[in-house]
Amino acid sequence: MRKPITDLIHHPYTPPPGFSAPQPGVFKASTVIFPNVAAMRARDWQHKAGYTYGLHGTPTTFTLEERIATLEGGKHCLLVPSGLAAIANVSMALLKAGDEVLIPDNAYGPNKALADGELKSWGITHQIYDAMNPADLQARIGPNTKLVWLEAPGSVTMEFVPLRELAAICRERGVTSALDSTWSAGIAFNGFDAGADIVVHALTKYPSGGGDVLMGAVVTRDDKLHRQLNLTHMRVGWGVGANDAETILRSLSTMAVRYHAQDMAARELAAWLQGRPEIGQLLHPAFEGSPGHPHWRELCTAAAGLFSVVFDARYGTAQVDAFCDALELFKLGYSWGGPVSLAVPYDVAPMRSARLGTCPYKGVLVRFSVGLEAVDDLRADLEQALGALG
Ligand SMILES: *Cc1c(COP(=O)(O)O)cnc(C)c1O
Repeated sequence: MRKPITDLIHHPYTPPPGFSAPQPGVFKASTVIFPNVAAMRARDWQHKAGYTYGLHGTPTTFTLEERIATLEGGKHCLLVPSGLAAIANVSMALLKAGDEVLIPDNAYGPNKALADGELKSWGITHQIYDAMNPADLQARIGPNTKLVWLEAPGSVTMEFVPLRELAAICRERGVTSALDSTWSAGIAFNGFDAGADIVVHALTKYPSGGGDVLMGAVVTRDDKLHRQLNLTHMRVGWGVGANDAETILRSLSTMAVRYHAQDMAARELAAWLQGRPEIGQLLHPAFEGSPGHPHWRELCTAAAGLFSVVFDARYGTAQVDAFCDALELFKLGYSWGGPVSLAVPYDVAPMRSARLGTCPYKGVLVRFSVGLEAVDDLRADLEQALGALG
């Protein structure tokens, strides 16, 4: 007779099959149990035909991967522990010593830092290009260029780049393009339709929508490209926790409504700020006069709830810092796409390549991520904080 403590681990009970509920189940595993040795020997971690090890997928992560692939109109999706890991997955899988990668000057900063750090130390070179100028990309693609990063709009300064044109240049020159489409979230525009070969997302932003989970996704349509990315993904050991995957699955169903609500709220606040004498320039791609606005209009049906303002040049860093400190509902913090509105002051010039001279902004910049609070309350908060400018 087996002791009860063994039965606590090897219990004969299995619940009846056929359970169905709105939310997919959370399957947690490092170990996956095989029914017999033959099944163990025949294991195939690459094709989602079954399960081999927690790192290679569970019903929970497979379900999330399929939904993200569908969202972006892709065929394959890999989940990684952060948006930055999604960028790293692509660069590490596609580049080897002697290769070169091109990165936009207005790219998400850590993408450039990865190129300047690890990639450089592995003998992979990079060039920064001006994504607002397709001729600059055209001129910089060389025989060693194996990957071009794309991003729309640009990080912090929000200029909407001529994405289709940039992707077409990559295609013409036979260079793989990877688009960081976190801002679009698969809603404002479709990354593959814009011409990208690979689309990455920080699921940390709108897909999570809570400011509480870090995750990234790498989406492809091409089997061969996916296999290459998947091999690196497996060899470096990137995986995501089932509880985090479940959290994203739960939020994903409400993402479109949140995205559009935050878009509308952000446009209302941006329009109001634009009319204020303290503001020198509004940087929101959906607004006439914002850099790249015609490209946004051509490609997009919506915008994220994210914009920046450049304060009038008469306000220095200390004054804009005082404005930020006076904000009450807007919290000071990085990331975006969550329910809490956020503000971050930036000094843009050091973030941009001096060689390209692509920083025309003279005043101090503040980026706002609009959350889900009542717009009137957010406007009142901005108004009282503008009073602290002095
Ligand atoms: C936030 C962000 C990332 C990185 O996502 P993390 O999950 O924070 O690592 C990458 N690209 C863009 C455009 C982002 O906004």
